[in-house]
Amino acid sequence: MLKRFKPLARDIYSQLLYRLGLSSPSRIPSDALLILTFHRVLPLELRAEYPLPGLAVTPEELHWILATLLPHFENLTVSEAVRRHRHGGNAKAQLAVSFDDGQWDNLEYATPVLEALGVPATFYLPTDFIGGSQLLWHDRAAFAWQRLAVGGDHRRVLEGLGIHRGIASTSVGGFLEALKQLSPTQRETLLKKVNETAETTLPPWARLMDWAEVNQLDARGHEIGSHGCTHTLLPQLDREGQVAELEHSLQVIERFSRHAPVSFCYPNGSFDDRTPQIAEEVGYENAVTTRWGINRRDVPPFQLLRCDMDAGRLVDRNGTLSRSRLAMRVSGRQPGLAVH
Ligand SMILES: [Zn+2]
Repeated sequence: MLKRFKPLARDIYSQLLYRLGLSSPSRIPSDALLILTFHRVLPLELRAEYPLPGLAVTPEELHWILATLLPHFENLTVSEAVRRHRHGGNAKAQLAVSFDDGQWDNLEYATPVLEALGVPATFYLPTDFIGGSQLLWHDRAAFAWQRLAVGGDHRRVLEGLGIHRGIASTSVGGFLEALKQLSPTQRETLLKKVNETAETTLPPWARLMDWAEVNQLDARGHEIGSHGCTHTLLPQLDREGQVAELEHSLQVIERFSRHAPVSFCYPNGSFDDRTPQIAEEVGYENAVTTRWGINRRDVPPFQLLRCDMDAGRLVDRNGTLSRSRLAMRVSGRQPGLAVH
């Protein structure tokens, strides 16, 4: 009963906000900069194979989200939007669209949608993984978890590997959260062991782009930003380690594409007191976080807020994409909004 009531209550609440004009995108002030976050873009049948479906939208969902928001905004890449935003005097609020992690599906499934709508976007690359066969650690963990969960005994298997109860959690999300608490070396050691035991086979679409593919994005007018080298959690590194991640990834992108990147994205949204200054010192102009919100003029350029687009939160209780749900999410008026 409670399970049915919650979506209904959310629908009524979101429609009320929308009809009263409290969440309408047209009410977003002209000095605002909204940055959307996407990760994977997968057709429905591929998303069904992906163990982290909340990180993937379908091409149709991407089209609907952008087409719904675009009339209310001026659309630019992140770096152009930040430059324009700082000068002020815009007639319309600004919208920047960003994709984290450099996944191959971005080129295959997102760019046709972006181009149909005339949207230039920003793609953040973890440079050590571009052109390689390795997946990012959260995907390696999630695919292994999915494989182990087929038999329903993943918890027993993980505990059998000597992984304590807190990490051998009952959900893939809990497993990832527990892994984040480990040091990069501990995490890698454990993941290697788990993947060997799970004998994980990865679907061919799960890979990241190579540099030729990245350069196709560049040639089509999109922005290439840095997401660090190894997608590690920067606060776990000392100052030299953080400098190396930010500086080396900048240099690699400059070498392989034709421009030095000016936009940075903190992996997992994690940064500490030192990171924004390091980002500025090594040559970036801006950095985005995973903190939720719409940027106003006073936002620090190395701590930009974003709005993560999880299609599961944009549908009403009947499973239909809902304008009032999208408006509620973008306006930040969504109850229980996960900020991470
Ligand atoms: Zn990422």
